[in-house]
Amino acid sequence: MQSPALLSVANLKKSFGSFPVLKGVSFELSRGECIAIIGPSGSGKSTCLRAINYLEPPSSGEIRLEGRLIGKHEDGRRMSDAELAPQRADMGMVFQSFNLWPHLDVRSNITLQPRKVRKMPTKQAVELCDTVLAKVHLSEKASQMPHRLSGGQQQRVAIARSLAQEPKLLLFDEPTSALDPELVGEVLTVIKELARDGLSMVLVTHEIAFAREVADRILFMDGGVIIEEGPARQVLDQPQHPRLKQFLSALG
Ligand code: ADP
Ligand code: MG
Repeated sequence: MQSPALLSVANLKKSFGSFPVLKGVSFELSRGECIAIIGPSGSGKSTCLRAINYLEPPSSGEIRLEGRLIGKHEDGRRMSDAELAPQRADMGMVFQSFNLWPHLDVRSNITLQPRKVRKMPTKQAVELCDTVLAKVHLSEKASQMPHRLSGGQQQRVAIARSLAQEPKLLLFDEPTSALDPELVGEVLTVIKELARDGLSMVLVTHEIAFAREVADRILFMDGGVIIEEGPARQVLDQPQHPRLKQFLSALG
């Protein structure tokens, strides 16, 4: 029997008032796969990620993680926040703005969720912290306060904090777009290594060269729908839809 997709998104729609932002988005992510979503500003990429983990409850459509419905019960009833919390933790989200707790050092930022939410013993949480900090190449910064770190280091701590939730997949929303250009590379390197290690991810990015390198598949969104999708090289090197051609040529 074929195992179900890790993540399946089916006919996802979201309107703000009467304004439809997502007009029916469907895709599946296999375990270990990296999907990049590209598209013009305002095309609904962030809303799509936020709808997937119910930060922005979708107007309709279905999201399943390992076959289980996210955000609602099989009879259609909405889940409570308490029911939703563990599902959200299964899908770590890394934002453009890293939002570390400013009054907590790196280790406490990372161990907070495992200790408080998952009731992990401190010793085990600290070991987990060491493991995830090593993955983002910041082992020596565990006792540092966030404001003492560069933007690139802060974003890597934010990635480590998401990893410490031991999620089934990570959702990245333009993780490098708030960074000075010279700090982008170190964050992309970490994401690339995580992808190579087999972490499943959906990555919204405007770094097209990076998407080509790291993504197994690319989805091009425009106007709240996926207009074109396929293997990264195919989508980028042989774009079919005029709007994708225009988008790529405008990037130069
Ligand atoms: P992208 O990430 O591709 O730039 P977004 O998902 O952020 O696009 O936004 C898509 C559209 O939805 C935009 O027109 C934006 O103004 C609108 N939008 C996003 N969030 C909200 C909101 N909370 N309320 C009203 N409109 C929103
Ligand atoms: Mg966005």
